[in-house]
Amino acid sequence: MTPSLSRLREQFPALAQPGLIYLDNAATTQKPVAVLDAMNHFYRRHNANVHRGAHRLSDLATRDFEGARDIVANFLNASAREEVIFTRGTTEAMNLLARSLGSHLLQPGDEILIDTWAHHACIVPWQQMAIQTGAKLVPIPLTPAGDLDLDAYESLLSPRTKVVSLTQISNALGKQAPLHQMLPAAKAMGAITIVDGAQAVAHLPVDVQALGCDFYAFSGHKCYGPTGIGVLWGRQQLLQQMPPYQYGGEMIDTVSFEGSRFNRLPYKFEAGTPAIAEAIGLGAALSFIQSLDTNAVANHEQALMNRAKAGLAGLDGVAAIAADGDNLGALSFRVDGEHHQDIGILLDQAGIAVRCGHHCCQPLMQALGLKGSCRVSFALYNTEAEVDAFVAALQEITEFLN
Ligand code: PLP
Repeated sequence: MTPSLSRLREQFPALAQPGLIYLDNAATTQKPVAVLDAMNHFYRRHNANVHRGAHRLSDLATRDFEGARDIVANFLNASAREEVIFTRGTTEAMNLLARSLGSHLLQPGDEILIDTWAHHACIVPWQQMAIQTGAKLVPIPLTPAGDLDLDAYESLLSPRTKVVSLTQISNALGKQAPLHQMLPAAKAMGAITIVDGAQAVAHLPVDVQALGCDFYAFSGHKCYGPTGIGVLWGRQQLLQQMPPYQYGGEMIDTVSFEGSRFNRLPYKFEAGTPAIAEAIGLGAALSFIQSLDTNAVANHEQALMNRAKAGLAGLDGVAAIAADGDNLGALSFRVDGEHHQDIGILLDQAGIAVRCGHHCCQPLMQALGLKGSCRVSFALYNTEAEVDAFVAALQEITEFLN
C-alpha cells in the first residue's frame, strides 16, 4: 500500500477496531469521515424538509440535496441533472424500471434478456412483470468458465427482445461483462438496455454516455456512501415517456379529486420525503471517490486480487471459482468437502469478515453447480497484509478440518 493509500485508510474509523479484517466490501463498504461529517453536519445544522419550505433552513437543505444530485450527474457524466433519480438503492431502481417501463413497454411474447450473473434484485422484478404482461424472461447463459456466453447472447437477440439487463460486475464472481460489445448488439436490435452498476461504481470510472446504455443503477452503500440511497440514471426521453412508479409528495404537480398532474423530471419518480441526509452522504462519497488517484487505487485493488488468487492457489483443497480472468472486487472460492457457512464462521472467529451463501444469485449458483460459495471482496483500504492474514487463516482452518 502506498503512503497516500494508507493515509486514506485512516479516514475510515470503523477499520481502526482491533481484530477486524473487513473483506465483505461487495456487501457494503465502510464509510469515510467525509461521508460521516456531511451527514452529521446536515442533521446538526441544516435539517429541514426539501423543496417546499418557505424558510432559510429548508432552502439550505434543498441546496445540499440538489447539490448531491449535481455531484451524481457529474460523476456519471449524465447529460442533464434531470436524468438522475434518487432511489433507495439498486433494488428500488430495478423495481422502478420493471414496473414503470415494463407496464409501458411490454406486450405478450416480448422477451427480456437477463444475464445469469444477475442479482435477484434484477431478475425478480422483471419476472413479476413478465407474469403480468405475458412477456418472457430469457437468461443469457454462461460458458463453462463462468463468463457470459456471447455467441449465445447474440443468437438470443431478436426483434422480440425489448429489454436487455446486464450486470457490469458480478457480485459473486467479480467478473466484468464486455458491455462495449453487448450493449451495441442490444441497441442494434432496438432493445432498451439496463446496466446494474452496483459492484462497479467503487472500482471503475463510470461514463453513462460513453457506455451507451439507456439506464444505469447503483447503490450508495457499496461505494463508501450510506445505506438507503441509490441512483437510477436514465435517458431523459425514455424517463419522460414512463409513468410514475409511486405517488404522493414531490412527484405531484396538481391534485383534484377528478385527477392529478405529475411533476417534471426528476421529481416525477421521487414520491414522498426523500432520504435527504443519505443523498448528501452519497454526494460526499462520490466526491471522495473523485478526489482519489484512480490509477493508484486500481493498481492497488488489482494487486490485492492477484495476491488473493495466488494465496488460494497454494492451499490444498481450496479452489477459486471462475477466477481465470480480470476479476475485480470480489473473488469466490470453495473448500472441498466443507459447507461454505462453516468456513465463514471459522474465518469470523479469526477476525476475518467474508460473505458465504448464494450472494442473492441463486440462478448463477445453479449454473455453476454450487449451493453457495465463500466470497472475499476488496476495497481501496484493504492491505496486502490483510490478504495474507486471510490466506493464513484459511490454511489453518483447512488443516484443522482435515
Ligand atoms: N446488484 C448487485 C450486483 C448487487 O451486488 C446488489 C447488492 O448486493 C444489488 C444489485 C442490490 O443492491 P441493494 O441491496 O443495495 O439494493
